[in-house]
Amino acid sequence: MIDLHTHSNASDGTESPAAVMAAAVAAGLDVVALADHDTTAGWAEAADAARRLGIALVRGTEVSAKADGISVHLLSYLHDPDHPALVEQNAVVKGSRVTRAQEMVDRLSVDFAVTWEDVLAQTEPGTTIGRPHIADALVSAGYSVDRSAAFANILRPGTPYYVHQHVPDAVTAVKAVVASGGVPVFAHPGAMGRGRIVSDQVIEEMVDAGLVGLEVRHRDNGADQQRRLTSIAKSLGLFVTGSSDYHGTGKPNRLGEHTTHPEVFAQIEEIGLSEVIRS
Ligand code: AMP
Ligand code: FE
Ligand code: FE
Ligand code: ZN
Repeated sequence: MIDLHTHSNASDGTESPAAVMAAAVAAGLDVVALADHDTTAGWAEAADAARRLGIALVRGTEVSAKADGISVHLLSYLHDPDHPALVEQNAVVKGSRVTRAQEMVDRLSVDFAVTWEDVLAQTEPGTTIGRPHIADALVSAGYSVDRSAAFANILRPGTPYYVHQHVPDAVTAVKAVVASGGVPVFAHPGAMGRGRIVSDQVIEEMVDAGLVGLEVRHRDNGADQQRRLTSIAKSLGLFVTGSSDYHGTGKPNRLGEHTTHPEVFAQIEEIGLSEVIRS
């Protein structure tokens, strides 16, 4: 069982990287990828735990980007964590995420008793800050029952509290992943519940820049989108993956709820620069 998309508290998952590895073993996975947003901070702890627990680990990052003003999440697998292309891009995005979250808290504080300190109290030092951490502060203060409830109303785009992120263009992001030796896969490209989704043309432009796969089997891609994406993958020669996008208790997504075929995993391992961690 191969699940190539999970998050730890190095970004917006609720468990430490070691705890995610333990949960992956408990869920019966043979291979798991850690893909925290815009960071590799969880890699070392996850690798130690994976070796100890005897699970194969694909080290990755979920890179924030945009196209036509639409949010695009790009999975990078097995890149060189020290290559300046992604290191610099991640640093800029992580920094601007802080400014953006502070601006959202400023706006929220007009109507809700939440402070920046309340948000920081919900995060590990150095984590990639995002709306999930603001959601945790709203939950802690009693304004929402859980993250999903906070996302469904207070934090959704279109409210006066929502602030856009400054992130690179999707084509630029794909090129940075390729330059870093990573394997670029478009995360949940048909996730209509999160907002607008990108056109076939944007996917083609990303492919021209080096995109090699689409995350088709994901709970946020509806059946129609999965059919559309499967046919795009076929016509453009892309491979397809399936993954959970596990966030611990931060989301209902369960480990192994979608999986990736072993032949596709073998291709990712073949293309990627960094080693898959095995005990
Ligand atoms: P941001 O990148 O700060 O705008 O926040 C988006 C992140 O919030 C995504 O990476 C998701 O993991 C998370 N997210 C989106 N929708 C939900 C939800 N309904 N419940 C919990 N987390 C969510
Ligand atoms: Fe997330
Ligand atoms: Fe994502
Ligand atoms: Zn994710």
